Amino acid sequence: MINNYIGIFPSGAIKLGPDIICDGFHRDYRVRMQTHIHDDHMYDFERSKGHQDIYSTDATRRLLISEFNADLLYRQNLISLEYNVPKRVGNSLIELLPADHMIGSAQVAVELVGGIRVGYSGDFQWPLDKVIQVDQLVLDSTYGSPDSIRQYSQDEAEAQLLKIVQEKLRFGPVHIKSHRGTLQRGMQVLCEINNYPMVVSRRLSDEVEIYRQFGYPIENYYLIESCEGKEIVQSDRYIRFYGKGDRLPTEIRHGTTVVLSAFSTDHKNPVLEYSEKACRVALTDHADFEGVLDYVRASGASYVVTDNTRGGHAVDLSRELRDRLGINAVPSIYETSHEWGV
Ligand SMILES: [Zn+2]
Ligand SMILES: [Zn+2]
Repeated sequence: MINNYIGIFPSGAIKLGPDIICDGFHRDYRVRMQTHIHDDHMYDFERSKGHQDIYSTDATRRLLISEFNADLLYRQNLISLEYNVPKRVGNSLIELLPADHMIGSAQVAVELVGGIRVGYSGDFQWPLDKVIQVDQLVLDSTYGSPDSIRQYSQDEAEAQLLKIVQEKLRFGPVHIKSHRGTLQRGMQVLCEINNYPMVVSRRLSDEVEIYRQFGYPIENYYLIESCEGKEIVQSDRYIRFYGKGDRLPTEIRHGTTVVLSAFSTDHKNPVLEYSEKACRVALTDHADFEGVLDYVRASGASYVVTDNTRGGHAVDLSRELRDRLGINAVPSIYETSHEWGV
């Protein structure tokens, strides 16, 4: 009989022992760990702000401050942790490890009284240098199905993005829409195109500045409302990026639209052309199915709960873990109607 140290509340909040909750709110828990800032991990953040101590990496903390404005900067309950440095909080020893999913993203490990180790993968890319070592694991299930095996590398996907944007720029500006993290990866790839500067909103520029502070080499971009930005747009030779809160124009008369998707649906080809003027490129920031299995093996977990609240394939994945790895695995019992996140 497995003792229930881990679980997932209907709200999507992940329970790691009696004190710690991740990526959600519950009034009985004093501490929230925030793995990263994608929307499907931000449930009830406002309530947590008022009632909990919130631990995250410094990059995540800065992105939260930039999104939720200055009052967070002065709050004592938003606390940053360095990767790989454990901290005692009440009766739990908590630690964040890199997850390589987006800037600041983390896996969470918690050591409970008696030495039991529990953890949450968060969203993660594979391979990783270091995986949390735990007895019990809550696992992201985005690519939890055996159909989800990618046959191209992320370097190949990035090379394809560069090629397609270079081609399309011959016919006018390129408009790129994406989620956070994926978008900045796209900017990093495309800033090497000479003579075609990138143009962004103020909000996106503030976000990109944080990426730069944390070592992302993104350059050659301009604020849309600046004098240079206006001139660049007049010239017609530019790449425009649209991030969170930026609306794509309803009609793009001139140029090409590229959606950078964090999900791949065609596992052979990252590029899907809708027409000559619109396409989608998948720059995934999640491990594929085989990566997920490798991750679970590397964690040492003997009991796994697959996350059924954030989309993906929790039921399939728990079955595969039982069949292929002989691990006691169950999907979280609560299924909610949240949209697929990233
Ligand atoms: Zn994510
Ligand atoms: Zn997610």
